[in-house]
Amino acid sequence: MIPYGRQSIDEDDIRAVCEALRSDWLTTGPRVEQFERAVAEFCGTAFGVAVASGTAALHCAMHALGIGPGDEVIVPTMTFAATANCVRYAGATPVFADVDPDTLLLPAAEVGRLATPRTRAVIAVDYAGQPCDYDSLRKICAAHNLVLVADACHALGAATGQGAVGSLADLTVFSFHPVKHITTGEGGMVMGHDKALEAKLRRFRNHGIDTEFRQRQEQGTWRYDMVELGMNYRITDIQCALGISQLTKLPGFLARRNEIAARYDQAFAGTSVRPLVAMPGALHAYHLYVVRVTRRDAIFTALRAAGIGVNVHYSPVHLHPYYRQSLGTGPGLCPVAEATSETILSLPLHPGMSDADVETVVRETLRFMGK
Ligand SMILES: *Cc1c(COP(=O)(O)O)cnc(C)c1O
Repeated sequence: MIPYGRQSIDEDDIRAVCEALRSDWLTTGPRVEQFERAVAEFCGTAFGVAVASGTAALHCAMHALGIGPGDEVIVPTMTFAATANCVRYAGATPVFADVDPDTLLLPAAEVGRLATPRTRAVIAVDYAGQPCDYDSLRKICAAHNLVLVADACHALGAATGQGAVGSLADLTVFSFHPVKHITTGEGGMVMGHDKALEAKLRRFRNHGIDTEFRQRQEQGTWRYDMVELGMNYRITDIQCALGISQLTKLPGFLARRNEIAARYDQAFAGTSVRPLVAMPGALHAYHLYVVRVTRRDAIFTALRAAGIGVNVHYSPVHLHPYYRQSLGTGPGLCPVAEATSETILSLPLHPGMSDADVETVVRETLRFMGK
């Protein structure tokens, strides 16, 4: 089976992890800071706060922004459930927005349509690795006094004319799950510019305690204060050793992802396999290569049987039983996402695919689509 996504790990990644295992620090040591600084430098942000997962990073972001009961946060429904779940963790209400049919990105007009006096923030998703229209989103957020958070779990390495994804919203979240651009096994990071938010993120990651163990050890003190209720969302030095090593390979990974996407674009041009539209002028990180097809479920089954690990990203979040039951959402709320989700298919795309793998995916897809 050619999987839709997979990590690329080589011998120097393994060596880096072994070195961490032989060192004094297995967790919250020097490698955490080093990884945070390296990602922040890559994105051009003042800071990065590394945590246990992308989901934890989203929860930290909601907490640091003071989102709570009575607040509304606008989220696109075409995303992974965690984008909306973090709003629930904070006790607030996600308000589901529809998406553009050609890109599956959140249009700024949807924010204007859904904003109420209770709305505090928007979480935009760089679906498939394509950056949102951050200019328009920032403008509409400013007009309604909303904070802009980017769920950029698909988009590490993407950029617009304004700069790298990571630096384009008030806070931006990345995931380092194995199918994402670089991996730490599980892991995530919150990027930002505002030092006051950074302090809140660091404290929430560590039980709501205002210093870390290593800081106290350096200062020769055992005392600490827990000033609010936080979580244990720490990431380990073992994981960050892997992250530091993986980050050095990110440019190569992105180049290979774009090369495979370009081959797919060329192979499917003029056929009934219709890729999502990539907007000109931005650097696409191609976490996913998503096509729209008729008879999607039949094509899915046929391709899986042929050894092609296709997948579907996503079923709209507002249609999940949890949200139907807790918020009363259901069909008709986001018609574009609901219709499009019945036609989309994610084809295999990861840097470890050989040219022969890519040609196999092209051949089998066109064979089952009948051109
Ligand atoms: C992967 C992903 C997450 C969650 O990341 P984890 O590291 O798996 O917790 C959140 N949002 C989106 C859009 C994702 O793709």
